[in-house]
Amino acid sequence: PPVDTFDYIVFGGTGDLTMRKLLPALYHRYRDGQIPDDSRIIGTARSPLSRADYQQRAHAALNEHVQPGALDDATVQRFLNMVHYVSLNGAEADSDWPALKALLDGVPATRIRVYYLATSPALYGQICENLNTQGLITGQSRVVLEKPIGTDLASAEAINDSVGRHFHENQIFRIDHYLGKETVQNLIALRFANPVFERLWSCDAIDYVQITAAETVGVEGRGAYYDRSGALRDMIQNHLLQVLCLVAMDPPVSLEADSVRNEKLKVLHALKPIAADDVAIYTSRGQYMRGTIGDRTVGSYLEDLGEGVTSETETFVALKAEILTWRWGNVPFYLRSGKRMAEKSSEIVIQFKSAPWSIFANRPEPNRLIIRIQPDEGVMLSVSTKDPTPTDSLALRQADINIEFEKAFNVRYPDAYERLLLDVVRGDPILFIRRDEVAAAWRWIDPIEQGWRENKAPLEPYAAGTWGPEGARNLLSQSGHLWHEDMKK
Ligand code: NAP
Repeated sequence: PPVDTFDYIVFGGTGDLTMRKLLPALYHRYRDGQIPDDSRIIGTARSPLSRADYQQRAHAALNEHVQPGALDDATVQRFLNMVHYVSLNGAEADSDWPALKALLDGVPATRIRVYYLATSPALYGQICENLNTQGLITGQSRVVLEKPIGTDLASAEAINDSVGRHFHENQIFRIDHYLGKETVQNLIALRFANPVFERLWSCDAIDYVQITAAETVGVEGRGAYYDRSGALRDMIQNHLLQVLCLVAMDPPVSLEADSVRNEKLKVLHALKPIAADDVAIYTSRGQYMRGTIGDRTVGSYLEDLGEGVTSETETFVALKAEILTWRWGNVPFYLRSGKRMAEKSSEIVIQFKSAPWSIFANRPEPNRLIIRIQPDEGVMLSVSTKDPTPTDSLALRQADINIEFEKAFNVRYPDAYERLLLDVVRGDPILFIRRDEVAAAWRWIDPIEQGWRENKAPLEPYAAGTWGPEGARNLLSQSGHLWHEDMKK
């Protein structure tokens, strides 16, 4: 069903995120009839553009980032009719706020208004302050905050304080696009609608868990941003810890947002702290060197940053996390993320315990449940079956029970932003991060970052196109565990 008419005001309206993700996502939802025609998308940025200029940029963005089959002229034209532009420095009080006000004042106060902050987080506080001073925050207003919310606990709290001065917590939508991914949401369905899994979902049956988000790309044009962040802050603090929460949380009492977020928060609180002195035991960090990906030779991280630059920033991280609860006693959760890895792949691997005894000619492999987040979203359970080759004994062979969602349901899998952008209009925060979750995640990350700054774990090189440094393998092998790609061998 369509959502109510809205105004989406995007600060950072000319930026990469808006062009690559936000406009295409809104277009898809419009095309599917979920956005009423009298809604408006108002881009704002400092660049002096006319409305027609901006519509032209938006059009080019759709041509580039929407599959040709989904673009038809009439729909694109009607979509572009919703697009407006105001040239504005959101961080300055005496910028052209009257132009934005003029657009917004003409509509009923009951209309839903979303302020999407797709600028540097350093501006979030000032933008909110200016919105307030200009009287632009109505009862129906919401604000969306892009990551990263800070670079540590203190800076995150400062951002949350400055936004919280002008918006109530229930008006604030902290986006983590991983939660908009279909397979990540599917974790909730898989776990809580299928007793066959949930009854086994604990240390009684599970040996260890791995959560991987591997990319083959390097830092591309975003080196300056990335170098100040690194893989731990860019990927683990938000996306992978959120996935970990959904894998590890207890069943929520309902699908009401706070009911789910309370359970996630309990997981974050139960994470065993990794002290700065212990980073060499629990973490591995690396930086990519030259290497080959497919048949392409690619440069090192330092080469990507530019000539004469040195950097201690990690482009790869692996961690051993432990959750101190009855459910998860002694079950390590291995998290890893890296750039310039061997494959683009995000997945969760649940490794079950081995059979206690084997009556077969060969030992059964432990069962393994693989939840593929991207690409090729799906769920796969590896099982032992009888080896069909005739032999004189009953031998086992591994086979997979495999669901590929796109094939199973014959639908296009929507981009994560499509769901999230309209959830904000609907006012449903279930897939957004509550303030206390952000704080709890940083509280766990900060000592790791500190240990690294104090050089208590080496920054290891790894060749582009591999699965990361040797240290990442050692992190598991000391407990007799293997990363997924090593199990396949
Ligand atoms: P970007 O390409 O550098 O765009 C920044 C945008 O902010 C531009 O439209 C810029 O336009 C505008 N801007 C800068 N200063 C401004 C000011 N004072 N007032 C109004 N507008 C201003 O950055 P991005 O990659 O789109 O990222 C935006 C935010 O999303 C960042 O917080 C980033 O961390 C986050 N994010 C991005 C991605 C991604 O894939 N790109 C993914 C996740 C999160 P003018 O220069 O014309 O003002």
